[in-house]
Amino acid sequence: MTRSTLSSHVEVYGQSVQALVNAMEFLKLRAQRILASHGIESLQADKWYPMNSVLSSFNDILAQVGPHTTRAIGHAIPKSSVFPPAIFSFETALQSLDQAYRMNHRGSGDIGSYRYIPGVGRTAQMVCDNPYPCDFDQGIMEALYDRFPPKGSIVLRIEHEHTGCRAKGARSCSYRLKW
Ligand SMILES: [Zn+2]
Repeated sequence: MTRSTLSSHVEVYGQSVQALVNAMEFLKLRAQRILASHGIESLQADKWYPMNSVLSSFNDILAQVGPHTTRAIGHAIPKSSVFPPAIFSFETALQSLDQAYRMNHRGSGDIGSYRYIPGVGRTAQMVCDNPYPCDFDQGIMEALYDRFPPKGSIVLRIEHEHTGCRAKGARSCSYRLKW
């Protein structure tokens, strides 16, 4: 069974889907048209939408607009999604990402995860085996860094491990983070 069949009964919270439209700025109309072509019309923050429609919209954006925009959508996620309370640092934000992911999705099906593995000092590893694009997840991690800037850190480095990439058909992407 493919992941898309497994996620066919899962829904995404509208507020989260709005990041997709907001991040596309002057391409908002195009974003709305892409969503509408997959059955998501008049998007509302407090409604739920089929995850498969959202994922198909992402595929179109990636193919028609490119990875830069996909990353920008990821960037907009922490601003517009529901996040658990008590996040006070970049590390706790990374650690809570999986919980936030689950708060913005509902229904039965395998939606994969965001796995946080703490490292030594200012390092960590994130393993993402959710069906969203690689660039989208990197955008989310960058946005969390911007939102919870660690003291004394100037930049976040995200190194994609060479163990395979979802963009090339792998089941997961693994990232080494240094800040
Ligand atoms: Zn990847």
